[in-house]
This record gives sequence, structure tokens and C-alpha cells, in this order.
Amino acid sequence: MQAGGPLEPFSYDAGDLSPSEVEIDVAYCGICHSDLSMIDDEWGMSQFPLVGGHEVIGTVAAVGSNVQGLQEGMTVGLGWHSAYCGQCASCREGDQNLCSTAEGTIVARHGGFADKVRADAASIVVIPEGLDLESAGPLFCGGITVFNPLVQFGVKSTDKVAVIGIGGLGHIALQFLNAWGCEVTAFTSSESKRQEALEMGAHKTLNSRDPQEIEAAAGSFDFIISTVNVKLDWNLYLNTLKPKGRLHFVGATLEPLDLGVFSLIMAQRSVSGSPVGSPATIAKMLEFAKQHDIKPRIEVFPMSEINAAFDRLKSGKARYRIVLSNR
Ligand SMILES: [Zn+2]
Ligand SMILES: [Zn+2]
Repeated sequence: MQAGGPLEPFSYDAGDLSPSEVEIDVAYCGICHSDLSMIDDEWGMSQFPLVGGHEVIGTVAAVGSNVQGLQEGMTVGLGWHSAYCGQCASCREGDQNLCSTAEGTIVARHGGFADKVRADAASIVVIPEGLDLESAGPLFCGGITVFNPLVQFGVKSTDKVAVIGIGGLGHIALQFLNAWGCEVTAFTSSESKRQEALEMGAHKTLNSRDPQEIEAAAGSFDFIISTVNVKLDWNLYLNTLKPKGRLHFVGATLEPLDLGVFSLIMAQRSVSGSPVGSPATIAKMLEFAKQHDIKPRIEVFPMSEINAAFDRLKSGKARYRIVLSNR
């Protein structure tokens, strides 16, 4: 109801379903750190009352008159975006996630911590038969955020890839990269996560708070994905890249990057970032996850215990993603 406040039951009249929209009966909805940022209005774009939730798994309950390819009863998912303009160059090229006027599921709209949620049909992805539904929600934001860079930058099975931060995003990245065929290294500061990282697909681990250990890994990696939202000594990490290597950011750290340009120039290294993924890439990811039995590790709370679920998220102890259930 207000920035930083507790979550309370809230009803609203969604009006008539527009011709391009779909209504989903929500079965499960993952909690993403962005939900917390929006509830706390950290980014200054929240509108209250705010209904969070953008890792939705559910069943199509109704479709608008112009919707094709989706029917009542189909099992579907919805992520960060709930509508695209469909007309801009990015949309026409299949990069809808880069559409500058794309609508966020929880930005000036009501999201999936609910019985029902609505979105434009173009943003909804059908769940392949056989995918575990309870754990699938986190694939729609956390999962696609770490899967999309593998597609965008053509990560190869012969590449050596490192993941910084083994949490909600990082633990899925380890599984994807291992199945992708890469040699995978996990950077983590948590002793208890080291062993789990190895179980989830890392071949090696390095302590992200031990400068000597990181220095010793100089010139090791083709690609590094950072999922953390805190400031690290990025120059130290840049030097762990091989020539032509890439340091890629998907964790939204608010502090500006402090990077030495010589390390980029001399070894032709790159620094980049990317948001979620297009609906086509989400569909590809779901097939890949099914094929390789990749599942987010989750803790499930009933939707009615959403405040307890957020306390758990804030504690930083969740292993590794929290899912709210209406079932
Ligand atoms: Zn567009
Ligand atoms: Zn998210």
C-alpha cells in the first residue's frame, strides 16, 4: 500500500479484458529481488498500491478477442515484461526485451502475487509439457537473465566461464553453463555455498573476497557473468579474463563501475550488460531446462504467507529462490 510497508490483501477491478490480453490463473509466483526493490521504491518508479510478482506460472483463464495461439487451460508463464510495442526496430528484430516502451509486469500494472494476472499475449510463453511447474517460475526472470547472455554472445562449449555471486540467479547460471558444456567456476564468499556450487555444476570455486586467490586466476576466463548487486574490485575481475574476454553484468549494482581502461584496451576485453530475454529466447531456455533437467532450487511459501516469505528473502538465507504457491 506504501513504499516499504507490509503486504496486505488488496482487491481491484481489472475491467474488461482488452483484445490483445490474456488473463492467467496464478498457480505459482517466484519472488525476485526486483520485487523488493519495487516495494521499497528503490528505483523511484513504483506506483502504489503495488502488486509485485513477475515470475508467474499459471493457467490461461481467458483470452482477448484478437489473441491467437493461446487458449483457455494452457499452462503458461509470464516474466518481467507484460507488453511490447511490437513496432520498434528491437521488436521487429525479435529483441522485444530491448523495446524501450515495453511494459513491466509490476510497473504501473498489477503483478502475479495474486489469484489472477493479465498481460499482453505477446509476452506470455507456453510451458513445455513435463517441466516441473512448482520450480519453473524463477526461470522467467532469474533464469532468463542468466541464459540470455549465452545466446547473445555465442558462449561456446569450449569456453571457460565464471559466475560471480551464487544466489537466486547465480545458482541457475551454474546449471545452465554446465549443461552448455563449459568449464564453470563459481566466485562466492560463502563457505557454505562452495560445496553446493560444485553440486550445481561448478567445476571449481574461488573466494570472491580473497584478492590473492582472484589474482592467481589472471587470464583464465572467456566470459564472466556477475549476478551481484554490490560493488566489488572490478579491475581485479577484469584481469581474470583472457584476451578478448567479456565481463557481463546482470546484477543491478547502483554504484558506477570503476574500471581501468588499459586492461580493456591492451587485451581487447569487453564489459557489457543485458536485461531478461525475448519471448523466443525464454521458450528456448524452457526447452533447454527440460532437456537437461535444470531446476531452480526453491523454498515454497503459501501465497498467504507472503510477508514471511519476504522476511526470508531479506535474511539472505533462502536457498536459492522463493516461490509463492496458490495450490
Ligand atoms: Zn518495441
Ligand atoms: Zn526479476
